[in-house]
Amino acid sequence: MAETTPVPTSIDGVTALYRRFRPGRFAELRGQDHVVRALQGAVKNDRVVHAYLFSGPRGTGKTTTARILAKALNCEHPRDGDACDECGSCVAITKGSSLDVVELDAASNNGVDDIREIIAGAWHGTPGSWKVYIFDEVHQLSKAASAALLKTLEEPPQHVVFVLATTEPHKVMPTIRSRTQHLEFRLIGGETLSSLLHDVKGAAGLAADDELIDAAVRLGRGSARDALSALDQLIATGALSETQPEFDGLFHSLVNLDAVGALRSLAVLTKEGWDPEQLAESFAAEVRQVFLLQVAPEVADAVDSDRERLSAWGAQLGLPRTVRILETFGLAMREMKSAPEKVVTLEVALVRLIRPELDSSVQSLDERLTKLEREGARPVASTPPVPATPLRPIGTTAPRETSEVTAAPVTSESVATPSDLPTAPSVSSDAPLSLEDVTERFENHVVPRTPRSAQLLLKNAHVRSLEGHRLTVSLPNEEMRQNTDHIAPGLKSAMDHEFKVPIQIEWVIDASPPRPVAARPRAPQPESELSGVDDDASEESTVVVDSMAGHLISEMFPGAEEI
Ligand SMILES: [Zn+2]
Repeated sequence: MAETTPVPTSIDGVTALYRRFRPGRFAELRGQDHVVRALQGAVKNDRVVHAYLFSGPRGTGKTTTARILAKALNCEHPRDGDACDECGSCVAITKGSSLDVVELDAASNNGVDDIREIIAGAWHGTPGSWKVYIFDEVHQLSKAASAALLKTLEEPPQHVVFVLATTEPHKVMPTIRSRTQHLEFRLIGGETLSSLLHDVKGAAGLAADDELIDAAVRLGRGSARDALSALDQLIATGALSETQPEFDGLFHSLVNLDAVGALRSLAVLTKEGWDPEQLAESFAAEVRQVFLLQVAPEVADAVDSDRERLSAWGAQLGLPRTVRILETFGLAMREMKSAPEKVVTLEVALVRLIRPELDSSVQSLDERLTKLEREGARPVASTPPVPATPLRPIGTTAPRETSEVTAAPVTSESVATPSDLPTAPSVSSDAPLSLEDVTERFENHVVPRTPRSAQLLLKNAHVRSLEGHRLTVSLPNEEMRQNTDHIAPGLKSAMDHEFKVPIQIEWVIDASPPRPVAARPRAPQPESELSGVDDDASEESTVVVDSMAGHLISEMFPGAEEI
């Protein structure tokens, strides 16, 4: 079946570059070395099989390779398993006039009759020694057509080769797949595409500078066909600035946690005419490069000029945020498919990334904690928890009504001190513990040793009384008390480490302020002494920390409230 589609032309009327520079021999194929090795070797050693399955993304050269295979098999002057691309047979195949090659686009001819008709011809003799059937998008064949094809593949005529090309090999019937030799085509790396475009530029005498070629490589996204088409259009229109959205503004806003700036950048881009889905996709592609440049630079295929820029953004964003941007955009792209206002989905995604407190996913929670740590938020981090603001009014003498204590005591089980642990220098296990001492050590040494989630809960805990080795600690409500089960192991190990003697904790519910403990060694201090940063920043960060911590607590322990 001869090719009947008109040869597409580019804007200035010449044959499209990707047609003009379509590889005619194995030696000219780029970026699919493993496929070339397998096929050229098979032709050379006369080990060609009757059916091949070529799978891979669009524009990676599947049908082109199938035609080259047909040329190599029928070439009048083959060299080392490759076609000459000059003889009558090769030229006829290039022109699409050869009777040795039958192409079928299964997307449009997918019925059983189409297949039957084609296959009937497979039994007729052909001028060349091999007849090659190329079925593109073979996964789109109907069931009946697939069954008819399978029958032929079970007993293929001599000198017939079927090349089944598909972008979705998993949709091809397994029984068909199992009768083929499967060759996977890969996306073409940025460097390979770049060198291809430079060669085409030289061969065609194009006036294209490196910037233009880089842009075409980027637009090609691993596809030689798309890259060459892009180059064609870029040269024709010269509209380099329109080839891809400019994302530096967006990156800048993400780095600086500037929600307004991000929305403004997005508005500018949509105003320029970029479709939200296209934007999300392009941005995700850039962030992917940012991610790869941080994790495995050798895998990243950003071109030179982009590499530097994207590496710089990566350094400013850091890996965890880069990953979250990728994930968030991945989700947004999915949501957009069914969203009535796609741009809103994108806006929400951006604001979520910048204001993670609006997001309740575990990842964003982790990011918030990381952020708090980075900001030197000591109260919830692992350094001693001196409250930045006096959460607990010291000196108030609100009466504590023990009769209101309703909770059943929850005790953390006592275990003997491991003998290999050094004894605390200040306290021998025989010395009686005082309430003041235990309170101070509980707050300043035990709590900071517990996991972060425990610290958030323990921030609301107050030591109430001590009887022997039995410590009564209050929490403001029942929900929080129930959560003590989860923190028990971490707390127990921190207690054991600090006190070296088993101390039982009895949890009670008591929302009243604790009684002042005489000679409490650490009274709240002025804020300027507390924060390690300068005064301007300290106020702000204190506010952030406080509201963040409160938010985190209520999120992790529903019902909790600061007192
Ligand atoms: Zn030839």
